Amino acid sequence: MESGYIAEIFSSFQGEGAYTGRRQIFIRFAGCPLSCFYCDTPSAHDSRPKLCTVFGKSNNHVIENPMTSQLVIEWANELRTPDVHSICYTGGEPLLQTEFVKQIAREAESMQLNNFIETSGYSARAFAALAEDFEFASIDIKLKHHRAVEDSNYDRLYANELECVKIAVDRGIDTIVKVVVLKDTTADEIEAVCRDLAEFDIKFVLQPVTAPHHLPDVAPGANELFRLSEVAGRFLTDVMVIPQLHKFMHIQ
Ligand code: SF4
Repeated sequence: MESGYIAEIFSSFQGEGAYTGRRQIFIRFAGCPLSCFYCDTPSAHDSRPKLCTVFGKSNNHVIENPMTSQLVIEWANELRTPDVHSICYTGGEPLLQTEFVKQIAREAESMQLNNFIETSGYSARAFAALAEDFEFASIDIKLKHHRAVEDSNYDRLYANELECVKIAVDRGIDTIVKVVVLKDTTADEIEAVCRDLAEFDIKFVLQPVTAPHHLPDVAPGANELFRLSEVAGRFLTDVMVIPQLHKFMHIQ
């Protein structure tokens, strides 16, 4: 049985993208190989946390890591409610623990739960290894000025992200592609990404960054969002602009 490192397990509403508002059970995997400057999950960078917090219906529980896949799914099932849309595998970066994720996803399937992965798409090989176990995938496209990686590694990251989108669409996964946009995101950048995505049947989300406290001025204004959305609409049929709802609702 596989075991791995989880930061949190909780039930909430999806706060990002095309499935915003759906109730999900979130499994937050520990660790992320990227370093986006706006990251709102600093705990994601500890790839070996000693403890996982399960936010229960009435009490919180602290569980020692590493956890077995069976224990993870038992806690997820404990949080199950009649409105649950799916289990959301998030991070951090779930692709860092592929076999562990795969085993949890298989156990979830056997319990008639749908699987939804949120990933930066940093490794197409890792994504390919578990794609067959997912019904939904939300794949990020990072822009160079997100500073997710050194500039010299950016082209490789971008190629992996595009390949993940291709794999997801080819396998019939309901695929959402999300780009975080900032005040200085240009129309040319969005056009270049959308040209590369034009051949794929995807839902495309422009997500205005939620400005971190130390950088209050990085969020785009409404006019910038209208402009970027119009650019995307020239290449893609299903374009939406959605901020992070959970930040407005003050929930996880
Ligand atoms: S990919 Fe996500 S978790 Fe990783 S650094 Fe970027 S925003 Fe943070």
